[in-house]
Amino acid sequence: ADYKTDVHNDWCAGCGDFGIVNAIQMALAEMGVERDKAVMFSGIGCSGKTSHFINTYGVHTLHGRVLTFAQGAKIANPDLTVVAVGGDGDGLGIGAGHFVAAGRRNVDMTYIIFDNGVYGLTKGQASPTLKLGEKTKSLPSPNTNSNVNPIGLAIASGFTFVARGYSYDVRHLKDLIVQAVNHKGLSFLDVLQPCPTYNDLNTRDWYAGADLMDEAQKRHSRIYKLEDQKFDPLVHYGSEVEVNEKLSQALIKSLEWGNKIPTGVFYKNELTSPYTQRIKDKIPNYLENPPAKQKISENGTPNTDISKILDSLEV
Ligand code: SF4
Ligand code: MG
Repeated sequence: ADYKTDVHNDWCAGCGDFGIVNAIQMALAEMGVERDKAVMFSGIGCSGKTSHFINTYGVHTLHGRVLTFAQGAKIANPDLTVVAVGGDGDGLGIGAGHFVAAGRRNVDMTYIIFDNGVYGLTKGQASPTLKLGEKTKSLPSPNTNSNVNPIGLAIASGFTFVARGYSYDVRHLKDLIVQAVNHKGLSFLDVLQPCPTYNDLNTRDWYAGADLMDEAQKRHSRIYKLEDQKFDPLVHYGSEVEVNEKLSQALIKSLEWGNKIPTGVFYKNELTSPYTQRIKDKIPNYLENPPAKQKISENGTPNTDISKILDSLEV
């Protein structure tokens, strides 16, 4: 299937967002996801336009609220492949409460943050991932706030798959998206995404290590892959001791930044029950008869009987 749309794309030339959309489309194609079985939810920001560019169902939602829409859709119709996307400001500023709450539920879906350190759509204000004291060309003075660590926050919140990709390594990013979507539980992908228009610090050249020289006076990329270092993010047995070890090593890796920036999978645990299982334990026929498949009307007449509720409210 073709996952491209003909909607006009007005992202700036050189924006990292293009690579992320390509990677999502490549991942959907590789997995053979049917277009009418997938929904892209997006928040508000440059990245919010993503749902218009991918030819599945798409819902362009509210600022900071993308996870509420996406979780609701997945819970109502567990057959859907649900992918939510949004910016770092959207997801880790106004949306931070939903981010943490989503981690506790472990709904089987994927959340991708386009992480560029700025609020691009509104002309480059400092976002929650810009570090204290950093000054992009869009700021009149250095940033006065400390940054959020998206990988660390996801791990602490209970996301059961936590990974980081880079928007200019589309093939690797595609592989991570396939893994994230196939993961049984809530997956999070932090995607480093240069914004050439407003962020002149974390540029494509900076990530490529244009300013870094090793002994042989050859530059080396800041970005490296955890899998190349034999890092094992997987929880194999699920004992408390093992889970704590895997969480700890992931947190330590999440703090690495500067001349060496890890990408790849930091943590993966499929032994935590997904939310559908938790509902099924309470409502045994939930998967056969989820809310999206329940009849709500007969011949145009709603078949919901609220008379009992009304009776009980009578004074
Ligand atoms: Fe991309 Fe930045 Fe332009 Fe937005 S403002 S489209 S993030 S380059
Ligand atoms: Mg942003």
